Amino acid sequence: MNEKTCAACDCELDATAIQVRIGANVVEVCCDECATKLREASAKKAS
Ligand SMILES: [Zn+2]
Repeated sequence: MNEKTCAACDCELDATAIQVRIGANVVEVCCDECATKLREASAKKAS
């Protein structure tokens, strides 16, 4: 039960996973593009 998946696109994460802080949470994504998507999505929610 310890598998990690990208928070944006749901693909499996490997050693290249990127940590993204969303408010109080830290999630992991597979690439910079997904990190940007998540940041934009959370920015929209906040405003
Ligand atoms: Zn991804």
